[in-house]
Amino acid sequence: MIIILFGAPGVGKGTQASLLARKLGIAHLSTGDAFRTAIQNQTEVGKIAQSYVDEGSLVPDNIVASIVEEAMQGPAYRNGCILDGFPRNRGQVDALNSILVGRGLRVDKVINLEVDNETIIKRLLGRGRNDDSADVIEHRLNIYRHETEPLLEYYSQNGNLITVDGVGDIAEINRRILEAIDDHSD
Ligand code: ADP
Repeated sequence: MIIILFGAPGVGKGTQASLLARKLGIAHLSTGDAFRTAIQNQTEVGKIAQSYVDEGSLVPDNIVASIVEEAMQGPAYRNGCILDGFPRNRGQVDALNSILVGRGLRVDKVINLEVDNETIIKRLLGRGRNDDSADVIEHRLNIYRHETEPLLEYYSQNGNLITVDGVGDIAEINRRILEAIDDHSD
């Protein structure tokens, strides 16, 4: 099963993706985590990604697509995965579709976690990651509104988009997501 966890920075995608991955027994692929690890290890990808991540811009599509494609070849991905933070623009949707078609797979569910702007900013400022300063947060939210949010239209036309309220406690939100997946399973 391929599930996309969709939503603005700070809606709690990472937390929910890792809970879901454990419950569903599938892999969790966070492109943000992959870049942070690559940066820490100063790999070739890490060196390229660093400036983009620091300023809150999108890492170029070809690099993102190549790390996703490589990860999905691993044995841990045999039963599918939760995609957390990918795709983020139309080019990445196309890249994902071609990775999936090549392996006879498709996107099964897109879970859109919805949280109001004020709560998002409060959460991000409280998190204290390097890229969580006020101006970088604003830049990331702008990119989300302009490049990522419009993908909801595409996924709603493809019939597998479910919007879930992302305000509440972690366990409660997790229950909402699992319920939404069950209700929409075919
Ligand atoms: P958040 O969702 O809070 O912005 P992430 O950990 O998902 O945090 O992403 C952190 C940073 O990693 C992004 O600001 C961006 O620079 C980079 N990144 C993550 N995923 C992608 C992606 N799919 N495409 C391009 N850049 C990405």
